[in-house]
Amino acid sequence: MSAYLFALPPVTALAVQGESRRFPVRRVFCAGRNYADHIVEMGGAPDAAPPVFFEKPPSALVCGNADVPWPRATANLHHEAELVLALGRPLCAASEEEAAAAVFGLATGVDLTRRDLQAEAKRRGGPWTAAKAFDASAPISAIRPLQAPVQHLSGPVWLDVNDQRRQHGDLAQMLWQPPRLLAHLSSLFDLHPGDLVFTGTPAGVGPLQRGDHVAAGAAGAPALHFRIV
Ligand code: MN
Repeated sequence: MSAYLFALPPVTALAVQGESRRFPVRRVFCAGRNYADHIVEMGGAPDAAPPVFFEKPPSALVCGNADVPWPRATANLHHEAELVLALGRPLCAASEEEAAAAVFGLATGVDLTRRDLQAEAKRRGGPWTAAKAFDASAPISAIRPLQAPVQHLSGPVWLDVNDQRRQHGDLAQMLWQPPRLLAHLSSLFDLHPGDLVFTGTPAGVGPLQRGDHVAAGAAGAPALHFRIV
């Protein structure tokens, strides 16, 4: 007889380029307010404050370029193309050097957002869970392993909808680059191998419709494509 009342939740695991073993996901952290041009397009003003953090559940991840179902309870689903850091070592109140060495690899992710629910949450001063943490809200590519500690990154971070470029930022625009971002995150949370960190999106976010074909990429990471169905 099983010790559990019902089946354990499945492990979400990402493909790794050049490696037959998969990357089992533990927690999915997401940074907001890490690109000045996106802060401005959302009606804010960049400042020296650290990025904000929220989480998505592992069930939010959609792997293998699979179709993404249109989520219920929204009339304004937005795309946010992001570089994702995949951690291979634990981090607790870490230095930037330790943080840089803890990154196992890079992926491309899209932080799908129910923008109407986020606007309502902002008005009411409430949490972003309903806007951000729904199932299938985080399509993600395979992971490309790194051969050396992650440093200051540059290169395109982009997103196309139906072959039209909508986001064309550069990783060099990140206000908090990966070592500093991870060191700060590890001052708030114990981080573990299997954790993912979405690093925020540049300007150009916008609405998606059923039937749209989305492609996205970030320098150093595999590209991603999916259809909204
Ligand atoms: Mn985002």
